Amino acid sequence: MPSTDTVIIGAGPYGLSVSSHLTAAGVPHEILGNPMHAWRHFMPPGMFLRSEAFASNLYAPQRGYTMEAYCRQNHIAYEPVGMRLPLETFVDYGLWFQSHLVKHVRKVDVVGIHRKDGLFRLDLSDGKPLVARRVVIALGLKGFEQMPPVLQGLPRPYVAHSGEFGSLAWAKGKNIVLVGGGQSALGLAALLGEIGARVRILVRDGTVTWNDRPKLSRGIISRLLKPEGGLGPGWRSYIFSEYPFVFHELGSQRRKRIIETSWGPSGAWWLRDRVADDDIILNTEINHAEIKGNQVILGIKSDGKTSSIMAEHVIVATGFRVDMRQHAFLSQEIMDSLSVIGGSPELTRDFETSIRGLYVVGPASARSFGPVMRFVYGAKYTAPRLARHIGKCFLEDARSSRLTQSVVTPPEFVEGSGGSGLPGQPVFRNPQK
Ligand SMILES: Cc1cc2nc3c(=O)[nH]c(=O)nc-3n(C[C@H](O)[C@H](O)[C@H](O)COP(=O)(O)OP(=O)(O)OC[C@H]3O[C@@H](n4cnc5c(N)ncnc54)[C@H](O)[C@@H]3O)c2cc1C
Repeated sequence: MPSTDTVIIGAGPYGLSVSSHLTAAGVPHEILGNPMHAWRHFMPPGMFLRSEAFASNLYAPQRGYTMEAYCRQNHIAYEPVGMRLPLETFVDYGLWFQSHLVKHVRKVDVVGIHRKDGLFRLDLSDGKPLVARRVVIALGLKGFEQMPPVLQGLPRPYVAHSGEFGSLAWAKGKNIVLVGGGQSALGLAALLGEIGARVRILVRDGTVTWNDRPKLSRGIISRLLKPEGGLGPGWRSYIFSEYPFVFHELGSQRRKRIIETSWGPSGAWWLRDRVADDDIILNTEINHAEIKGNQVILGIKSDGKTSSIMAEHVIVATGFRVDMRQHAFLSQEIMDSLSVIGGSPELTRDFETSIRGLYVVGPASARSFGPVMRFVYGAKYTAPRLARHIGKCFLEDARSSRLTQSVVTPPEFVEGSGGSGLPGQPVFRNPQK
């Protein structure tokens, strides 16, 4: 059966960044998944990134693969802060990064993972299984869509989560209710309004928070007082963006509080003029929902008054909640041994779960490493840290298997094996070579 040292599941910004670092560290590995798939298929064309351009990189150990380098090569005007970065540019950049540094990606899905005798066996959608010592899960937000209980179970296309949409062309002329008061809801409201949909936005809070337009050039005092971090300006943001290990060192309760109460929903400055205040209904709770005829009827309580509202479609933009049980390909035995808090995996400083050799990166690691992991900026810390750790484990395993060989295996077997050289062990190969 084909085997490798490490398998990365997922080829988004995290998986691609980790792969480029593992290649540099000389670790034989495979990376599985469709490159930038979520960005290409589950985000609406015309969307701008919420993150600043300097915080929208994929990370490679070598120079020359940043968003800035990509823009320079393609004659695209680049500003680290204050630039409106189109989704399409980010997708092209990610695919360019992959075509240069992660050519070996395999466009297959993992459909099952089992663990036996310290090794992982992966079943793939192309029917060819794979064995690995280590597995890195880099699946982004997939499967974590959060839906208010009152809307659960209502059929598509009447009710759907914002994370399910790519193109919005179908929505022209439709009457749509959006639920949520953050970037996803406000961004969709702007795009839907611009293509000719009738939009209303139901917001639970009493206000919508709009981010200020960043100052393009700031003096040294201003930068000292409020340094620019991946999560936004300010010292707190800077520390949690640049040094996620600080967050990891905090107690579990403190981490939970920070994750739940900081960096709450808000809209980017460039959306402010594209969303009409009249379309936003504040202080609103949905008490009841049903489908009648071809319409969704929502029973709502807004500012203490009850009423109902009708729409052809309801799009729920209430975010994502990590729940490892949603990764249906993990075997029951793996799920039973996986230590989780509120659905999120408990991770060591090296992103390792309670199962030896199983790692989780990206948004699913936010409970351990902080809010920066919800954004691509978190890959800046994750990729080198994880590659250093896996590189060390790989060398230790290679050393101990050489030691075992010299004791139990005749020299001619070692020479001819071409792999780990251990009888009964899989041959480990490096697809990058
Ligand atoms: C609407 C929206 C806007 C956002 N805007 C921003 C922003 O402006 N800036 C920012 O930093 N973050 C933003 N985010 C968050 C961002 O999407 C995530 O932080 C980021 O994509 C995580 O990257 P990832 O590599 O972990 O996962 P993803 O980019 O989600 O990639 C997941 C990968 O897993 C693969 N995959 C899925 N299932 C399988 C399987 N069974 N087997 C193998 N492979 C599989 C997919 O093909 C894909 O390659 C946004 C999110 C949303 C929903």
